[in-house]
Amino acid sequence: MNIRSAPRTLAATATALLALGGVAACADDQAGVNPQRVDVVAAFYPLQFLAERVGGDAVTVSNLVKPGAEPHDAELNPGQVGEVAQAELVVYLKGFQPAVDEAVEQNAGDKAFDVATVQPLLDAASADHEHEGEGEGEGEGEAAGHAEEETGGKDPHLWLDPTRLATVGDQLAERLGTADPDRAGDYTARAKALRTELEKLDAEFTAGLKTCQRREIVVSHTAFGYLTERYQLEQIGVSGLSPEDEPSPQRLAEVAEEAREHKATTIFFETLVSPKVAETIAGEVGAKTAVLDPLEGLSGDNGGDYLSVMRANLATLRTALSCS
Ligand SMILES: [Zn+2]
Ligand SMILES: [Zn+2]
Repeated sequence: MNIRSAPRTLAATATALLALGGVAACADDQAGVNPQRVDVVAAFYPLQFLAERVGGDAVTVSNLVKPGAEPHDAELNPGQVGEVAQAELVVYLKGFQPAVDEAVEQNAGDKAFDVATVQPLLDAASADHEHEGEGEGEGEGEAAGHAEEETGGKDPHLWLDPTRLATVGDQLAERLGTADPDRAGDYTARAKALRTELEKLDAEFTAGLKTCQRREIVVSHTAFGYLTERYQLEQIGVSGLSPEDEPSPQRLAEVAEEAREHKATTIFFETLVSPKVAETIAGEVGAKTAVLDPLEGLSGDNGGDYLSVMRANLATLRTALSCS
């Protein structure tokens, strides 16, 4: 279901404008609603990135999650609920942030674009991967059960596959074009330019992870299902789909055992949650720790964007997995 629109005559102009637009342009008019621009509310960072890149200087984008905050359990204050109600378009992922789902349901109705509807979501991965000849091991039920409660058994972290994000971008361009028909061609052209960049990133991942000594990654929560599926890696999550789960001592021991078995040199942690658990496991198995960023938000200090953080992730993975 890869919906792509035909190139438009405005493509060249829009591509030139893209260089001027993007992230910086969107901070310009925070001070008030600009009637010339479409007001877009994004539920968390990767959707903000998408809206800014596809919308360019035709939109004003605000993000419901503050930089440095973890989005899974984000609460909305009354002002943010008001933002949702007044937005011309709300871009969110149903099943990822319950407070946002509720605000959309009550206040945004048909102005909402649920990116989970663009392509079928993957089933939630259990925290463990399966070994050849083994059935469902004990300890898997807990993580899977938790996931089902929150997301109906689906994995929301779709942005970690750049090709999926590109397809969401194409669909977002269509939605923006419906809200703002005069500039529909610009949105389509920007989505196409972004797709080119995301496909380049995807090709870098495919090539960079083609030949590696190991393919298992030990991560703090199972955010990487789309990445591991796309590039034939295996994730072993200390906790399930939500990073807030506190792992039991038994779970820590299981993960340490897995790490030893797969000769993991690196235990990954995330920018937005404490590295303590990863450090504990790493200490126990004699591994290092490193950041593998699930891009649920930007950490305040890295100054990058989706593309640069993904490239940093690729470099980290290549080192940790000894890829040639
Ligand atoms: Zn997550
Ligand atoms: Zn294993």
